[in-house]
Amino acid sequence: MSKQQRPKVDRKARLQIPPNNVKKRPPAERIKDFEEIYPFFYDLETAKLEAQRCIQCPGAPCVKACPIHNDIPGAFWLLEHGDLIGAANTFRKTSIMPEVCGRICPQEILCEGSCVVGKKNVPVHIGKLEAYVADYQRTNFGLPPREKADPVGQKIAVVGAGPAGLEVAEEMSTRGYAVTVFDAWPEPGGLLLYGIPNFKLDKEIVTTKIALLEELGVKFTCNTKVGEDVTIDELLDGYDAVFLGIGAPVCASQNVPGEDLKGIYYATDYLVRGNLAPELLPEHQRTPLEVGKRVAVIGGGDTAMDCVRTSIRLPQVETVTCVYRRTEKEMPGRAEERSNAKEEGVQFEFLTVPVRYIGNDDGQVTAMECVRMELGEPDSSGRRRPIPIEGSNFIQEVDTVILSLGYWPDPALGEKTENLQTHKWGLFVVDEETGATSREGVFAGGDAVRGADLVVTALASAKVAVKGMDAYLKAKRSA
Ligand SMILES: Cc1cc2nc3c(=O)[nH]c(=O)nc-3n(C[C@H](O)[C@H](O)[C@H](O)COP(=O)(O)OP(=O)(O)OC[C@H]3O[C@@H](n4cnc5c(N)ncnc54)[C@H](O)[C@@H]3O)c2cc1C
Ligand code: SF4
Repeated sequence: MSKQQRPKVDRKARLQIPPNNVKKRPPAERIKDFEEIYPFFYDLETAKLEAQRCIQCPGAPCVKACPIHNDIPGAFWLLEHGDLIGAANTFRKTSIMPEVCGRICPQEILCEGSCVVGKKNVPVHIGKLEAYVADYQRTNFGLPPREKADPVGQKIAVVGAGPAGLEVAEEMSTRGYAVTVFDAWPEPGGLLLYGIPNFKLDKEIVTTKIALLEELGVKFTCNTKVGEDVTIDELLDGYDAVFLGIGAPVCASQNVPGEDLKGIYYATDYLVRGNLAPELLPEHQRTPLEVGKRVAVIGGGDTAMDCVRTSIRLPQVETVTCVYRRTEKEMPGRAEERSNAKEEGVQFEFLTVPVRYIGNDDGQVTAMECVRMELGEPDSSGRRRPIPIEGSNFIQEVDTVILSLGYWPDPALGEKTENLQTHKWGLFVVDEETGATSREGVFAGGDAVRGADLVVTALASAKVAVKGMDAYLKAKRSA
């Protein structure tokens, strides 16, 4: 039912409905495994009640704030009237993975951050309801098959099987293109598989999505690094267009003495080895992690929270400390994840930064020298700059350190490919309207264009590239 056809609702009465929070598993239970912490999002009656908290406001700022513009009020209208499949399909009109985004979008700065109900009350739990209806459909009936246009006779290569690449693969395949996805990891999924832990996003959701794409006819060629195993020039010989969704995979380093000691890990290596079965990993990452009793995670974003929460789940670990150079107010990740980490027993050391790692004769880290910080004037990110306090240095004993300091793009592909323009950090330069790079027939999107960001923004930028590629290939057909 369109917005115009829906009857007016009694907004005052709806504003009186108390918020319905989802239940979490108790922390003492959930830190014993890597299962999701929400056993289920809602039962039907509670979900309908929560959907009724949506006041169906005409401007729907939540829709504008959602990077892919999901019709949130439309979906919730169907949900409150008991049509769960209709609600799920409303999300699926604009999203290829509502069960993922509903779980892991930072809703507080996107849809829920703009919810009018949230001005005076708790915003409608948009993300949890989205995940609930999408899960209901997927687990009871499977993902709905996509209709596919007749083959157009053109082939495209997608480089990178993360959210951006999967968006392009699915949408271009439904438009009749023959799609092959290349990825450097052994399995498709990008950071959904090789990054975000299972307790935040059940991996089965990702594998079900890949299976649907395979049914659509998408081919996956894994263990293939474009730029090394095959070049973009070679791909352009065999395909009519190429999409680059290679993410921003390089972990930032701290560049302080002792960073190469044993027992110090970069976040991605730690997360994949801590969360995935060895057979899903490349040969060189199959050795088990060696994690001691006292773990320190350096950094404060979502990845840092994933590292602390992975660590606290390892049976030998006794203490986990998140060391962050600013205060909690400046932390970049989701408040919900910090609160989950605190509930699970993670400690936080704010306004602190390690300046040196200290090792024993075997080259194993045993301690770190830290310095206390105070906040000065805001820097270019708008957050107050941390300044070391002279003479505040202290030693903290540790057995394992995880560096979670952000991600950079891999500049190699840009450097190796002629006429493929990149910014100085290696991000691809694209036309904002079409996603086209400077190299004819090559498009790009996701973190490889925006820098390390979000799943939903990767999907949004890939949608731009889908339109651009489709128009480019149509023109090529009729030339
Ligand atoms: C630990 C962690 C937690 C996160 N948590 C959240 C969260 O809670 N919410 C959220 O919205 N976002 C989160 N993110 C960010 C989110 O995962 C990314 O923004 C998103 O996955 C970007 O999608 P993408 O498709 O651009 O790139 P990616 O998901 O990084 O996928 C890129 C793919 O390209 C492949 N590739 C790279 N180079 C090559 C090459 N040369 N040849 C072939 N293949 C190549 C990679 O193997 C990878 O599979 C998190 C990220 C991390 C690391
Ligand atoms: S995709 Fe993300 S921002 Fe959009 S409605 Fe869903 S949870 Fe909100």
